[in-house]
Amino acid sequence: MTTTDISTLATALRAVLGDAQVISDRQELRTYECDGLAQYRVVPALVALPRTAAECAATVRACVDAGVPFVARGSGTGLSGGALPHAEGVLIVTSQLRAIRAVRPEDERAVVEPGVINLHVSRAAAPFGYYYAPDPSSQQVCSIGGNVAENSGGAHCLKYGFTTNHVTGLEVVTPDGDLVRLGGPAPDAPGYDLLGAFVGSEGTLGITTEVTVRLTRSPESVRTLLAGFAGTDQAGAATSAIIAAGVLPAAIEMMDALAIEAAEAAVRCGYPAGAGAVLIVELDGPAAEVDAHFTDVERLCREHGAGEIRVAADDAERALIWKGRKSAFAAVGRISPDYIVQDGVIPRTALPEVLRRIAEISAQRGVRVANVFHAGDGNLHPLVLFDDAVPGQAEQAEEVSGAILDICIAHGGSITGEHGVGMDKVGHMPRMYSADDLDTMQLLRCAFDPRGLANPGKVFPTPRLCGEVPGRRRGAHPLQEAGLAEVF
Ligand SMILES: Cc1cc2nc3c(=O)[nH]c(=O)nc-3n(C[C@H](O)[C@H](O)[C@H](O)COP(=O)(O)OP(=O)(O)OC[C@H]3O[C@@H](n4cnc5c(N)ncnc54)[C@H](O)[C@@H]3O)c2cc1C
Repeated sequence: MTTTDISTLATALRAVLGDAQVISDRQELRTYECDGLAQYRVVPALVALPRTAAECAATVRACVDAGVPFVARGSGTGLSGGALPHAEGVLIVTSQLRAIRAVRPEDERAVVEPGVINLHVSRAAAPFGYYYAPDPSSQQVCSIGGNVAENSGGAHCLKYGFTTNHVTGLEVVTPDGDLVRLGGPAPDAPGYDLLGAFVGSEGTLGITTEVTVRLTRSPESVRTLLAGFAGTDQAGAATSAIIAAGVLPAAIEMMDALAIEAAEAAVRCGYPAGAGAVLIVELDGPAAEVDAHFTDVERLCREHGAGEIRVAADDAERALIWKGRKSAFAAVGRISPDYIVQDGVIPRTALPEVLRRIAEISAQRGVRVANVFHAGDGNLHPLVLFDDAVPGQAEQAEEVSGAILDICIAHGGSITGEHGVGMDKVGHMPRMYSADDLDTMQLLRCAFDPRGLANPGKVFPTPRLCGEVPGRRRGAHPLQEAGLAEVF
């Protein structure tokens, strides 16, 4: 895009949105150059801040008319570079669409705009005895639109499921600029599950402008314990034993020694001294059931070697137990100047073996790895530590981080549990999927976005273009031949 093209588009957008809602100043644009994955930075050509769905649709239509790519952004907390701007494109920020339109306890639904912060939905539903179950650790700042795009999870998704299990309807702006509805307040709709396809599509199928979410009844009773173990083997075995006993906790979270050290340094959460691993187990539901299962959980933790077991006596103690876990990512900054937050998932039973392999790689390469994760559903978050000021350390950390994903795949897992593919993991997609698999996914993308303008360069490893004949590709891609693209 030439400078003239950009200024023509900026003028068109200002006519629709108003001057204050379009940013073109280079310094101001820098505010948006990255999301939570700060290793990648791209300054967008323009930023648009629509305040309504109609303005959002008009912004997309202006981009389409100009043939300019666009990237949606919510709160920018994504950890895979999904909201990384396009240098010649428009970043469409949905944070000003932040109305909670309805809270309807009678049909257990809330209707919210995409910029609404995750935790605010639960706050709005609380007076009615309800809450919104998916709870990413970033829930104080991340947006529901971002949650939908990433199919976000959280500590309590073991029992309650991911975002996709809690969204029944969407209003979206298609990549053509049309406003359409997918699903609705009812639990299911006939025909293809386009709603299911949209949730987790990372901004590649359009922009969400309204979300109908399922509300969950607040439990009668919640009980939380913290158990210290000698190491992750014992804590992993206790996790499997709890599930095998037929107990389904709301959450089972694990942190290893390095993660505990970081959390203590940052928030003084008072976890058991000298523990090689801790488990946080939370049970919720009817009081009688919770009490019975709680006794089982305590016993199973002890049988698998737990030393100290601390039971939260009240909300304040529960909050302190969770404080260490919820602040763990940021806390690692206390023990390392730089770190990569990795995200992979494995079958829960493979936890001890995979953690051992990660420890081996960490020792072999001399790269420290702290582990903090949703143990109940096998969703790992290894934090790979490095110092960018030391030449070579960043590359080593990247290698270890990639090797961890290979271990996940080798154990029947996946390259992402909840943070998405974004920009960060496009190169890992062919390790999980064949070329045919990727081409089939691309057919879906092209059905929504034949021009390839919605968040291009994300999720898929090569620019398999919508104009291409789908199916097995014979020979090199034309862009490869021209030296413009690379196949990983
Ligand atoms: C400290 C920390 C802890 C975290 N813990 C968790 C966790 O426990 N579980 C978890 O799943 N994630 C976690 N995350 C990751 C992140 O918070 C989630 O992915 C979150 O859903 C991103 O929301 P956001 O509003 O910040 O989206 P952004 O980062 O702005 O965008 C994320 C993706 O969504 C797309 N997008 C945003 N808004 C829209 C829209 N309206 N329509 C279409 N596409 C859109 C973007 O294009 C991008 O691809 C954590 C992040 C941090 C920093």
